[in-house]
Amino acid sequence: MGNQEERDKRHKKAMKRKKAHVDKRIAEATTEKNLLVVLTGNGKGKSSSAFGMLARSVGHGMRCAVVQFIKGQWKCGEQENFADHPLVDFYVMNTGFTWETQDRDKDITAAKKTWGQAEKFLSDSRYELVILDELTYMLTYGYLEKLRVLDAIKNRPGNQHAVVTGRNASKELIALADTVSEISNTKHAFDYGIKVQKGIDY
Ligand code: ATP
Ligand code: MG
Repeated sequence: MGNQEERDKRHKKAMKRKKAHVDKRIAEATTEKNLLVVLTGNGKGKSSSAFGMLARSVGHGMRCAVVQFIKGQWKCGEQENFADHPLVDFYVMNTGFTWETQDRDKDITAAKKTWGQAEKFLSDSRYELVILDELTYMLTYGYLEKLRVLDAIKNRPGNQHAVVTGRNASKELIALADTVSEISNTKHAFDYGIKVQKGIDY
């Protein structure tokens, strides 16, 4: 048997073993559950992943809600795409980044008002996906009451998935979540003097 032939045979055998293992795990994962997904860490990819799940859900005809707790300088592409979508309710907090407003009272008022909207979505079973983008900062800054936020997420309808994004997710939020990804910052173009790019950053 030639070297190549032997290698192919070994590969086939390994793939067969892998398939048996994956098939077994798929067969064992039978529980249906509404998920809480937390996307945290210092690397890029938290909000864009959440919006990826929004695109998937909308593709399946699911009704979705998005609440953005920090409004950036630029109108992000996902807002342009989904704000007027018949399956999506999109609510954006009406202040800029906190270090831009430098007005704690105003920020707290805006955060509370925005949270009121989030609570409505989290108690309405018509929404099968609720995205709470950049929510973690509202808790880190103490703008929202931790227990109230956790309760609303915990008590959401059984058919509703929730996605929370933002750095420094609290241990309570992580404990409550079903899926948690901590995205680390290996490298970011911004650190090399490259400005934010349309389509990639917003
Ligand atoms: P994205 O929306 O691109 O998925 P994100 O939600 O993970 O990013 P945020 O902290 O919300 O990250 O920041 C949003 C903006 O900041 C994006 O323009 C993103 O490219 C940029 N950004 C994210 N991480 C970093 C970083 N480590 N250094 C510099 N800029 C960053
Ligand atoms: Mg983000």
